[in-house]
Amino acid sequence: MEMTGQCLCGAVRFTAQDVAHKIGACHCGQCRRWGSGPYFAVRAGSVVFEGEDNLGRYRSSDWAERGFCKRCGSSLFYRMIEEDRYIMAAGSFDDQSGFELAYQVFIDEKPDFYSFAQETKTSTGDDFFARYAALKED
Ligand SMILES: [Zn+2]
Ligand SMILES: [Zn+2]
Repeated sequence: MEMTGQCLCGAVRFTAQDVAHKIGACHCGQCRRWGSGPYFAVRAGSVVFEGEDNLGRYRSSDWAERGFCKRCGSSLFYRMIEEDRYIMAAGSFDDQSGFELAYQVFIDEKPDFYSFAQETKTSTGDDFFARYAALKED
């Protein structure tokens, strides 16, 4: 599915191809520091940006960077650099009506002050890194 979205101020807009409808929530400490809550994320194929001058990229780990609007600070994406895999911020899309919360990652880092009512698949940080390592060996 091709979908469009933008940051809060509209300086950065994007068109993403092959957007999944399943949303993952990441509870890791980095994501919560980045957006003050879990990161609601959706996988996308290629992404084309408008307003690239206002798009900041922060290298948050050896393997990934996080994209944001330099003007308004909106979180826009998490991207695995080597794989060129975009995991877009669900909240940045213009139409979010088809999204469904399907899984939660880094559940072991979730603080106690919130939890979701929906039943979803969950995985820990260790699960995530194990899967990532397996991906690398392919
Ligand atoms: Zn903005
Ligand atoms: Zn995270």
